[in-house]
Formats: sequence, C-alpha cells, structure tokens
Amino acid sequence: MKQMTCSKCGNRVFFENLRCEACGSTLGYAPEEQRMLAFDESGEDSWHRLGPEGAAYSPCANRRANVCNWMVPSATGHHLCLSCRTTHTIPALAKAENHGYWAVLEQAKRRLFYTLIELVLPTPNKLEDPVNGLSFEFLEQVSPQEHVLTGHDEGVITLNIAEADDARREYARQLMHEPSRTLLGHFRHEIGHYYWDRLVRCTPWIDEFRSLFGDERADYGAALNIHYSSPDPDWPRRFISAYASSHAWEDWAETWAHYLHMVDGLETAASWGTHLEAASPSGPALKVRPLDLNAESIRDSIAEQWLPVSQFINAMDRSLGAHDSYPFIVVPPVIEKLDFIHRVVRAGSTGRMSMNFLPRS
Ligand SMILES: [Zn+2]
Ligand SMILES: [Zn+2]
Ligand SMILES: [Zn+2]
Repeated sequence: MKQMTCSKCGNRVFFENLRCEACGSTLGYAPEEQRMLAFDESGEDSWHRLGPEGAAYSPCANRRANVCNWMVPSATGHHLCLSCRTTHTIPALAKAENHGYWAVLEQAKRRLFYTLIELVLPTPNKLEDPVNGLSFEFLEQVSPQEHVLTGHDEGVITLNIAEADDARREYARQLMHEPSRTLLGHFRHEIGHYYWDRLVRCTPWIDEFRSLFGDERADYGAALNIHYSSPDPDWPRRFISAYASSHAWEDWAETWAHYLHMVDGLETAASWGTHLEAASPSGPALKVRPLDLNAESIRDSIAEQWLPVSQFINAMDRSLGAHDSYPFIVVPPVIEKLDFIHRVVRAGSTGRMSMNFLPRS
C-alpha cells in the first residue's frame, strides 16, 4: 500500500485512521482518489473538504458505528461505501464482542478492496449484479452442531466471525498446521475463487491453467478428503502451501492470495523508499520498486524484489520476537503460477480478454 498523508497538513497517517494526530482533522479514505482526505464535519450531507478542492464526499454510513473510514462521493447517493455495500450479513450486535469482530473484518476487507481497485478488477455487489456480483456473509456459529465454514460459493464469501478473534484464529492455525492465518489472507484467498470464475472459467486460459495448477474437474470433496487423510509430502517442491496441493482450485486461490500479498507488500516497501544495500550476501543493492502491473512477466520481479524483501521482513520480525510474517518459500513452479495469475489479471483489467460477468451456463 502507498504511504498515506493527511491532505490538510501532509502528516503521515495510516489507512485505518479516523483522525490526523498532527492537525486534528477528521480523515476519510476516498477510494476513487486512492488517498486520505481531511474534512471538517460541518456539512449536513457532504462533509467540507480541507486542503485542495475536489469532489464532495459523505462518510460511509458505517462510520457512525465506528466500523468504516471510507468516503462515498455525494453525487452517487449511496449511503455505504464500495466495500460495505458488498456485506450482506453482519454478526448479531446484541452480543458486545461481535461489534469488534465486525469492525476488524471490515477493516481487513477494505485492504483487500484497496488492492482490487489497483488491479482494476470489478467488484460489483449482488444488488448491482445478482448473478456474478459479490456478497460477504459474516456468520457466527451458534451451536456446536452447526458448522460455519469460511468459503466461496457463486460470489458469496462466508467468513466465520470466530476468525476475527485472535486467540481462536491462532488455535485454528495450530490445529490445521498452517504457518500463517490472517483475516486479510482469508479475504485474499476467497476472492481468488471468485475471480477464477470471472477470469479463467470457460475462457481460452483454461488449458494453460490446467497445465500449471492441475485439472479442476477432479472431484473436489474427494480431493479434500485425500488431502486431510494423507497430505502430499512432496508439496513444498511445487506449491506455496500444503493446502494448495489439495485441488487445482485451492492451488489457484492460495497462489492468488500470494499475488495480492506481493503486489501490496512491494508497493508498501517501495512507497517507504526501501533500499536494501545487502539484499543478497554478494549481489547488488536493491532499490525496491512496486510490481509493474503492466509488465509482460513478473518472474524477475518476484526473484529480485519480493524474495529479498520478504526475507528482510522475516528477519525484522525475529528481531522483535515475533513470528515470521511471510513463512513461505516461493519455489520456481510457484513463480510460474504467480506469473500466470499476473498475465490473467492484466489481460482482464486492460480489456484484452473479456471477464466472465455473464450468467453461468
Ligand atoms: Zn493533518
Ligand atoms: Zn464503509
Ligand atoms: Zn479455498
């Protein structure tokens, strides 16, 4: 993510901020301008913009619940922002802790949306496009018999709100033997399934997809059963995670999530002007650059940029007594899959390949 500054005083602020600590202005993020704007809240409907003039904005209606800091262009007449409009079900707020879970879920979702906007990928909600739109269900498991599974089905992404509880998510991570488990990672994974339907399903990409990820027509339930009873011990040679080796769809979604991690991670590092003098023990220094979203191929960027940057982040984590943020090894077959995802996204976002926003056959 790019560094954010207050549009009134230029102070560095974070994407999640509601207020500028330096000048005291109210802040809101305008996804249309991809920047943080300062306001005074005097306007009835629109807020008065501070700093340079520009379009009028109103706060997302969920700001009142302290759940969202995004702004809505007043001219659109929407009450909710682009991201909140995709949420169909929120947890029951009668339970005090659910409010906090809802807030952190929406916060992670907005980080997902930030990157999708950069990638020029459409994010229609189910009201705008009932067949191919997106909808998020944040569900609570209320009885031991009922299982709320995180997953994707025809544009509907379900998240068990227990995932928003750090202790329960960490418990699940250990139970599932996963190296990392984050809300943002869940969102990036599940949206990968959604875009597989939009960008790969029934398109000319399908043959290359199958040659890299395997045949998605293999029985999904049976594949997962095999994965959980006897996981492929050789997975590190070809996959980004053990789960990716369970089925072609999961390999795509896992690798897709890493594409988004990489796009966002390199943009952050580049935006802070990161320069790694000792990026490799004997190689040249590295001036980190954002991933070139128009590049023909990103193979070299992954090897020359993302690998040293992610290793540097892990080294910093260890210095601070934390777990590695990026406990993954990106092997050459995974680089090929990431490069494929990049080419698919680029062809779709530039309009060279039409996206599947048509009804399913
Ligand atoms: Zn300020
Ligand atoms: Zn919102
Ligand atoms: Zn999945």
